[in-house]
Amino acid sequence: MADNKLSIEEMAIFCKKKGLVYPSGEIYGGLSGFFDFGPNCVEIRNNIKKEWWRFHVQEREDIVGIDGSIITNPKIWQASGHVASFTDVYVKCRKCKKPNKIDKSEIGKARCECSGEYEVIGDLNLMFKTNVGPVEGSTAYLRPETAQLIFADFKLVAENSRLKLPFGIAQIGKAFRNEISPRDFLFRTREFEMMEIEYFVHPKNINKCPFLKQVLNHKMNILSAELQKKHKKPVKMTMKQALDKKIIKTEWHAYWLATEHKWFVNLGAKPDNFRIRQHTKQELSHYALDTWDLEYNFPFGWKELEGIANRTDFDLQQHIKHSKKDLSIFDQETNKKIVPHVVAEPSLGVGRAFLVFMFDAYNDDKKRGNIVLKLDPKLAPVKAGIFPLISKPELIKIARGIYNELKKTYNLNYDKSGSIGRRYARSDEIGTPFCITVDFDSLKDKSVTIRDRDTTKQARIKIADLKDILRKLIDKEIRFSDI
Ligand SMILES: [Zn+2]
Repeated sequence: MADNKLSIEEMAIFCKKKGLVYPSGEIYGGLSGFFDFGPNCVEIRNNIKKEWWRFHVQEREDIVGIDGSIITNPKIWQASGHVASFTDVYVKCRKCKKPNKIDKSEIGKARCECSGEYEVIGDLNLMFKTNVGPVEGSTAYLRPETAQLIFADFKLVAENSRLKLPFGIAQIGKAFRNEISPRDFLFRTREFEMMEIEYFVHPKNINKCPFLKQVLNHKMNILSAELQKKHKKPVKMTMKQALDKKIIKTEWHAYWLATEHKWFVNLGAKPDNFRIRQHTKQELSHYALDTWDLEYNFPFGWKELEGIANRTDFDLQQHIKHSKKDLSIFDQETNKKIVPHVVAEPSLGVGRAFLVFMFDAYNDDKKRGNIVLKLDPKLAPVKAGIFPLISKPELIKIARGIYNELKKTYNLNYDKSGSIGRRYARSDEIGTPFCITVDFDSLKDKSVTIRDRDTTKQARIKIADLKDILRKLIDKEIRFSDI
């Protein structure tokens, strides 16, 4: 990364040190591919999910949410093809003995990092198995993705919510994959949380997006299959240019790729750390017509954040066939029953989103002598630190009063120990955007000092105005320099 030298290992160390992410059950040595999240990380993850839901569900009329169960009828995973073919080829290095997984096409070709040859052990289904009830043999699975319950519940949701095409169904929830070699900290884990939408359209309208205007001028770095074939670099252009030149073939792909990029950028991620990459012919899934990945420039390379695939009506048709239930919906315009197509399935792991925001927020401020985590105030785990300048009862009384009032709305940190400089540094390191200090002048002028994390600038404001100003700062209705 151009402006950020932090490696993924260093990020893992930073997260451990700041109490954000621990190996799961560390007192027993942890478990590979599983992590526990500490108090501030829970806040950040909840904020990520809240902002995702606000942007994708709450603020829209065309998307509703569900919360499906983690263990469900195993027939779902037969219909979806996961029981038969959700497998990786399990290999072991002949030299260093490290296990790994490879694609079927890589057998005999792929080599270990140590350059050793691989021995093929066999196929491994990535679904975790369990038993339901006391009887052995009543096999069920922990869901390996959140998408299938959206398809299985599709008709109930569509009818109960009185949705008209095009519409989406969203879900946030945990999923599990028995990865052979979990790696890169939170990037590839065995337990993860997904934020996912399946977006359905009328089969006649698979290239008609009513929201296209919102994204036409949005610029992105685009790496088409063609450019990859020629070993060329991504080209930056607007969605309009990409559509006009038929690089992106459908309006829906352009819309969702840009929309997903915007979500990240609106929450403080750096626009040029992203690109969109088209899957090459060899990569395309059996059901997908065209797939683009939104990728991020991680310290270990460009990696997928979201796959925007056109899944056609493959999944709904599979469930119609296997359940023998009619999952078609009535289309009022044509007076016909139809099975809609999925034109996009924006799905994003909470862990990957967390890493993106952390890498783009992380700043080693040499002048201050501490890390400054420049998280968007909406994502910051603590919105403000409340400090009495020194530990005197009359200052504590005012500071506690402010704290008790504001914490009805925000997660705050009350801190009276150490120098004010130390308290600022501790706040910077977990990304607290504002610090509020009560001093002796506060006794007279009923005002406090508010300090901005990013600039270290300070302003004096009336305690009575604090709640309103803090809200406007967090919602970015005003800038700090406006105070
Ligand atoms: Zn090896």
